[in-house]
Amino acid sequence: MCHTGIGTLPILYFGTPEQKAKYLPKLASGEYIGAYALTEAGSGSDALAAKTKAVLSPDGKHYILHGEKMFITNGAWADVITVFAKIDGEHFTGFIVERGFEGVSHGKEEVKMGIHGSSTVPIILQDAKVPVENVLGEIGKGHKIAFNVLNVGRWKLGAATVGGCKRVLEHSVRYVKERKQFGQPLSTFEIIQDKIANSVIKTYVTETMMYRYAGTLDDAISTLDKTDADYDQKTLKMVEEYAIEASICKVYGSEAMDFVADEGVQMHGGYGYIQEYPVEAFYRNSRINRIYEGTNEINRMIIPGTLLKRALKGEIDLMGEIQRILGQLKDGFPKETDQRTLVNRTNLVNQAKKLAVYVSGVAVQKYMADIKDRQSFMVAMADFIIEIYAMESALLRSLQLIKQLGEEKARIPIAITKIYVTEKCAELVTMAKQFCANVAKGDDAAYEKYEKAITRILDVKPIDTLNLRLQIAQHAIENDGYAI
Ligand SMILES: Cc1cc2nc3c(=O)[nH]c(=O)nc-3n(C[C@H](O)[C@H](O)[C@H](O)COP(=O)(O)OP(=O)(O)OC[C@H]3O[C@@H](n4cnc5c(N)ncnc54)[C@H](O)[C@@H]3O)c2cc1C
Repeated sequence: MCHTGIGTLPILYFGTPEQKAKYLPKLASGEYIGAYALTEAGSGSDALAAKTKAVLSPDGKHYILHGEKMFITNGAWADVITVFAKIDGEHFTGFIVERGFEGVSHGKEEVKMGIHGSSTVPIILQDAKVPVENVLGEIGKGHKIAFNVLNVGRWKLGAATVGGCKRVLEHSVRYVKERKQFGQPLSTFEIIQDKIANSVIKTYVTETMMYRYAGTLDDAISTLDKTDADYDQKTLKMVEEYAIEASICKVYGSEAMDFVADEGVQMHGGYGYIQEYPVEAFYRNSRINRIYEGTNEINRMIIPGTLLKRALKGEIDLMGEIQRILGQLKDGFPKETDQRTLVNRTNLVNQAKKLAVYVSGVAVQKYMADIKDRQSFMVAMADFIIEIYAMESALLRSLQLIKQLGEEKARIPIAITKIYVTEKCAELVTMAKQFCANVAKGDDAAYEKYEKAITRILDVKPIDTLNLRLQIAQHAIENDGYAI
């Protein structure tokens, strides 16, 4: 993960032709292992506050790097490390640092909660001599490397969680089929079936989001001319364009995997807590995903933050959309005829989008430019956006499956989508009400106005999710795990 992502991509996207020719073939063959050193003891989430310093040597041939990087994956065995340092303590810049350069060493292995197969060490730069030709990208533009590479890493992390969820389900379903209590297999109990169904639902939605992001990015990149001298830069622009989706994939995937691993341990009972059983390791290994590649808190801030920046630049018409929805509030929204069909979930998702725009409008009107500093509102907006992307992805895939396979063969995806969209929309309504109550600050008349609008925009009727969940669980039990 680290080697093919943050360990290699900085040189792939930002290297000069000479740097690429020197390092990429060996990184691709595995002869060289790559690492990426951004974090320091005093600067984690606030990565640009790094203290590692670079000064040009008197003969102008080297940059002398001094400082210490913290928690560097692959650090003990990497041959090539992208290190970020500030030239003269000011200009944040990337450097390609070889393990063999004078003054480069690493500290002792951290003793970690999980992912014991990886190396995590400090990288020590004690007046390390880095040739000037190893400056990566432009001086003072290191943040472009650091953040763009993380965008790809975030999606990759999300994609990897799908595999983790499937493996946990496989182990857990097999276990509950074999283990008997009260004279019957655990898999026959409704509560256990509920856990299986919920884990399948999370896995399906996560998987769908990851393919959606990959497909969207692939489609965008396939419009580019590979012979264009600026191909790599244009590819990066596309990656930047989908930075919001990358953060969504990271946050959703890491939380889905934690949920599934946690339920996996629970289905194993005491055995889930014992190292001999694989779910124990999944539970520990999963936990890091919410922390690295930007913590989920930071990624949640990035999602609405990027959107608001684009709105300010005029790239998206957020204020226009808010006005349109306020107008529709007066005229009324189209009513659903039958909430039980999947096609009508489309209407719910569309209304959920309108609700997200409405609550954003409420917050923007109240806090104007200060909104980005109101973290609770930003996080709520992020959760709206994440869930809408999740619901819509599941819905689009299921509608496609109906077209390809027919309703009978697509019955499990249909069941998953019906449950997911209905329950999430109901949660979004509750969230919107809470959000507006916080904005209203005890002003009952203001809150009632908001509540009336929320109810008009999104009116969700509960459906029989119990029966649908049983079908989903039964399918997983028959197939020894996730089989969609
Ligand atoms: C196993 C492992 C491998 C790693 N690999 C690498 C690697 O290869 N390269 C690399 O450069 N780094 C790596 N890291 C570092 C990782 O990216 C950082 O740990 C992470 O970014 C968080 O930084 P921090 O630990 O300093 O936590 P802090 O930044 O101190 O955060 C602590 C808590 O405060 C929250 N927080 C921080 N700022 C805010 C804010 N503004 N608003 C609200 N909440 C906030 C965070 O979300 C978090 O919950 C690795 C870490 C680990 C544990």
